[in-house]
Amino acid sequence: MSYTEEIYDRVVAQNPGEPEFHQAVKEVLESLKVVIDRNEELYRSQAILERLVEPERIISFRVPWVDDQGTVQVNKGYRVQFNSAIGPYKGGLRFHPSVNQSILKFLGFEQIFKNSLTGLPIGGGKGGSNFDPKGKSDREVMAFCQSFMTELSKYIGADTDVPAGDIGVGGREIGFLFGQYKRLRDLYEGVLTGKGLTYGGSLIRTQATGYGVVYILDEILKAHNDTLAGKTVCVTGSGNVAIYAVEKASQLGAKVVSVSDSNGYVCDPNGINLDVLKDIKEVKRGRIKEYAERVPGSVYTEGKGVWNIKCDIYLPCATQNELPLEGVKVLAANGCRYIVEGANMPTTLDATQYAQENGICFMPGKAANAGGVATSALEMSQNSMRLSWSAEEVDEKLHNIMINIFAKVDDAAKRYGMEDNYVVGANIAGFEKVVNAMLAQGIC
Ligand code: NDP
Repeated sequence: MSYTEEIYDRVVAQNPGEPEFHQAVKEVLESLKVVIDRNEELYRSQAILERLVEPERIISFRVPWVDDQGTVQVNKGYRVQFNSAIGPYKGGLRFHPSVNQSILKFLGFEQIFKNSLTGLPIGGGKGGSNFDPKGKSDREVMAFCQSFMTELSKYIGADTDVPAGDIGVGGREIGFLFGQYKRLRDLYEGVLTGKGLTYGGSLIRTQATGYGVVYILDEILKAHNDTLAGKTVCVTGSGNVAIYAVEKASQLGAKVVSVSDSNGYVCDPNGINLDVLKDIKEVKRGRIKEYAERVPGSVYTEGKGVWNIKCDIYLPCATQNELPLEGVKVLAANGCRYIVEGANMPTTLDATQYAQENGICFMPGKAANAGGVATSALEMSQNSMRLSWSAEEVDEKLHNIMINIFAKVDDAAKRYGMEDNYVVGANIAGFEKVVNAMLAQGIC
């Protein structure tokens, strides 16, 4: 049995009931096999893989808060501090009823390689709660965030662990969390990213993940002598990543014809109207169904199935495992040529494999959505220097980071004789820096 297979079996045996974590480890280890095999003796002697798949620390805590009816509610809170070989832990907080240790471990594990790919000094972490901000009043969200931070503040800091937003955690939540941290620790420091512009946030952070997805898509297209102009694009989700992927793709001349939420999806053959989308999601915090009520010619369909819309490019930007094998089969049959993941692990393993074997160029989330965390790291730099860069400066740095990520991924795939296999390329390129840092730092 190979070292990678041994470690995968060990992860499954030692982490029962954590299917998302198993899935993420499997994808990474399968990709790394070629690298591990070449250096097996060294890596085994240093237990590199055993250490890589074990989080440095997992903090789990109770989050009590009082709702508007005066009832005490209790949620679970977590922070997974996965790997600090190349910098302080960095990764978002997710507030969603589905959050559990498996999901946060998968996200934290992915974050190690993603952060490494950015070229910036940030380690991997992730956290969150099974709290659902949907339908809660601002006061309830504030009460929850204050209680969550009361516990989390003991374990984070500008040079230790710097959380950001993720599903269910946007500007409002980051503001409440930052206010409570400052009050408890009496420190005005860049302990969170995604902050508002009046208190240390960076221009372009809100747009960064979605823009970054389209910047890397543009690089992929160039590498295939293709262009975004005139292409039909399907986007899933209608949150932070989705909205700004729609915006940048439209700016670069593509026609985006879909967005979705967990209830259903909208198809707009005339191209998604961004003003309406932003008004529904960013201002009114409404449901995507309302889009079809407001925009003539668009159609709302209840349930899953964005993949049934014919497109050239598919950008899944909602959540993990949203794109199953049956969806990719339909996409391939309808002539879709590119899948670029805006969300984290939105494509199942069998669907990814099918895409790669059936002429679809596939870029995994850990490379494609790294623009968000990269811009978070730029926010950390600005906070440390106590200055702010202009939107143009940040956007240019983001664009260059995405160009470099594509180059690294493409180069790693080619070096190991697997040209165009960006899954392998992203995992290898991300791993190389982390493993060298781990080896240099001894057994820790
Ligand atoms: P948001 O909370 O802003 O939006 C999430 C979107 O996905 C919403 O439209 C939501 O619909 C939909 N969604 C969530 N859960 C499900 C589900 N179970 N089934 C179907 N749809 C669902 O989150 P973000 O846009 O920030 O994040 C989207 C993805 O991108 C996540 O995988 C996240 O980890 C990843 N990501 C985000 C980054 C960022 O900077 N924000 C950075 C890198 C990755 P509904 O409103 O119905 O819940």
